[in-house]
Amino acid sequence: MSMEPRPLVAGNWKMNGLKTSLAETGRLSTLLKERSASCDVLICPPFTLLMELAAFFAGSAVDLGAQDCHPQKSGAHTGDISAEMLRDCGCSYVIVGHSERRADHGESSELVAQKAAAGQGEDLTTIICVGETEAERDQGKTLDVVSGQLKKSIPGTADPAKTVIAYEPVWAIGSGRTPTAGDVAEVHGMIRTRLFERFGGAGQGLRILYGGSVKPSNASELMAVTNVDGALVGGASLKADDFNGIIDAYRADAR
Ligand code: PEP
Repeated sequence: MSMEPRPLVAGNWKMNGLKTSLAETGRLSTLLKERSASCDVLICPPFTLLMELAAFFAGSAVDLGAQDCHPQKSGAHTGDISAEMLRDCGCSYVIVGHSERRADHGESSELVAQKAAAGQGEDLTTIICVGETEAERDQGKTLDVVSGQLKKSIPGTADPAKTVIAYEPVWAIGSGRTPTAGDVAEVHGMIRTRLFERFGGAGQGLRILYGGSVKPSNASELMAVTNVDGALVGGASLKADDFNGIIDAYRADAR
């Protein structure tokens, strides 16, 4: 794998999006064709739109991912979706361990590691999310919390070429608040050190995304921080113009 990670700008639509949202993705495709970016672009819609978007993005510069998967390949797990099913419908990525799943579904880091292993077992690149709560930051525990989550959430079998880390402070998600560039640099620097410890030299090539209230107006500053190799974007990924404005941080002519 290359030592210089190619950045990734990933959109997480969460529980948003209907068939009518496809007009917005059409607009994004047009915008991406107009001006090429030096980053990978990924959309993670709800499960219900995966098949349709797989057909829509086939052969384009946009990759498709899901927001979660079950650790098992198949079986009696009503309402769940396996990594094999995601691969079958055209995904190349899956997000695991998003803080909303950790909070809403009580997902532990151990379960997150199982999901990541399942994703990688189906050749999906897994975006493993970590991040502290506001109370943990206020108590000065950020580095310990994130380091602990990281250690337990990366599976023992992890393939560094299929692993992406997303640092998402829980208090920054959907709040309009972001850490300072210095705070982001501190956490991403610690994550990079842990990745070196875990993967040796290959740790340099892993992408570490920042997520939490990224928007066109702050993307350039956040993406310029050392060891920030892209963004995981929630709300601002729902509008093609906003998402494209974030991708601008990786367009040579926009720097
Ligand atoms: C997210 O859901 O991963 C996220 C970062 O959300 P937002 O960009 O809306 O803060």
